[in-house]
Amino acid sequence: MSVVTRFAPSPTGMLHIGGARTALFNILFSRRHNGRFLLRIEDTDRARSTKDAVDAILDGLDWLGITPDEAPVYQTSRAADHIDCARAMIENGTAFKCYATPEDLQARRERGEANRNAAKADELSDDARASLLALAAADLGPYRSPWRDGGPPPASDAPYTIRLRAPDTGSILLKDEVQGEISIDASEVDDLILLRADGTPTYMLAVVVDDHNMGITHVIRGDDHLRNTFRQIPIYQAMGWPIPTFAHVPMIHGPDGAKLSKRHGALGIAAYREMGYLPEAINNYLLRLGWSHGDWEIFSLEDAADVFSLSGIGRAPARIDFDKLSATNGHYIRTCDLEQLTALVEIELSKTLDISPRLRETLRTSLAIMRDRGDTIPALAEAYGFITATRPLVMNKKARKTLKGETLDRLAIIRDEIAAAAQWRAETLKITLADIMERQELTIGQLGPPLRAALTGGLPAPDIDLVMEWLGKDECLARIDDQLKITTLNDDGHEKQ
Ligand code: GLU
Repeated sequence: MSVVTRFAPSPTGMLHIGGARTALFNILFSRRHNGRFLLRIEDTDRARSTKDAVDAILDGLDWLGITPDEAPVYQTSRAADHIDCARAMIENGTAFKCYATPEDLQARRERGEANRNAAKADELSDDARASLLALAAADLGPYRSPWRDGGPPPASDAPYTIRLRAPDTGSILLKDEVQGEISIDASEVDDLILLRADGTPTYMLAVVVDDHNMGITHVIRGDDHLRNTFRQIPIYQAMGWPIPTFAHVPMIHGPDGAKLSKRHGALGIAAYREMGYLPEAINNYLLRLGWSHGDWEIFSLEDAADVFSLSGIGRAPARIDFDKLSATNGHYIRTCDLEQLTALVEIELSKTLDISPRLRETLRTSLAIMRDRGDTIPALAEAYGFITATRPLVMNKKARKTLKGETLDRLAIIRDEIAAAAQWRAETLKITLADIMERQELTIGQLGPPLRAALTGGLPAPDIDLVMEWLGKDECLARIDDQLKITTLNDDGHEKQ
């Protein structure tokens, strides 16, 4: 049997990180077994499905490199198959026309609630209470239609839905690859609607028909669908179709253990992309979230595809850990292609400043070293603060303290010395600075701090020779001159006496 998996998002919102992980598990499982991975856009909820959401899902998957093996299937385009299935089920007696109106169902619910409330009264005998609760349970429990065994329509033109005739007895068994064996009593399944009164198919029917017609062998999805599975199995059985293998993956929870929600931070893949996370890092992190293979922590999709198995999926909900995500991202920042990294940092910096050709060049030459200074693209962009700062630099407290008295006099001397430097590359500047120290009888403690303060304003920065090379000679001299000038002025801008 050739494995076929699918990711079946409803286009009612962004591509959620939980959805991305489901898609990952599906593609990896199919790759592992040389199978196919398909994408089905479940757009049957016309009111809530949007083109923007479809685009967000396609873009998100594309960015992550989760590429389906065939063009996406749109569920609404398959409505005829769904309708055919419902008709076939009527023919074979596993579905029926139900004439219950929304008002009937509402009345049933209200009756159930009324009986449940009545059962709370103090003065009731135990027997009376028990019979009220039984009535309430019948009305509030799984719906079994009065038309399930036939019966005349209330009027010749009465609207009807088509419902599954849920099994009367027995149990429904699910052998789930993650959750293990679970069985429920057939009475827990309702006569669910297959075709609405307007003739449109419901999700519950569409998903089964599509999975069958697309040849899906393994349904890997979130465990929020577990209950649905028990309602879908009777449809497979009604049609005599093989039931796919199911794997219900536990949800992703927030760091506090509560179900992941907006309050925990970004939920959509697009937001992570915006924040400058790398797709390789997101994939790696999401994969490790709820799936493990020995002590593997860092691996590519190709590596994972060689070893992926459903048995590696944990049963407990996975807790997202944003620090770990950043650390994983840091790993990829330090190992990814430098051109790609330069482009990302440039995009991040361009949110707040104009990127000059010089800065672009500096990024290109410095990132091999600078990439150690942040786990995320914004953090890296921030690490460039000493370069992107505009003149005259604002000195932090420490830098301001450094640039005083004789230190300042030394800075003036250093300035004139470096102005004479013939070459402006880190290696040569290192030698130039050593020469200056020797000639001017300065220790590193006397030369370094004023120079660093004037050039960086006290912001974190790497070795001073690198800082000098990256800033360029003109900028370095100008920054030093600024400080020599400013520090000889009073707060009111007049020359100090
Ligand atoms: N369309 C469903 C959803 O987005 C998934 C259905 C499925 O995977 O079977 O939650």
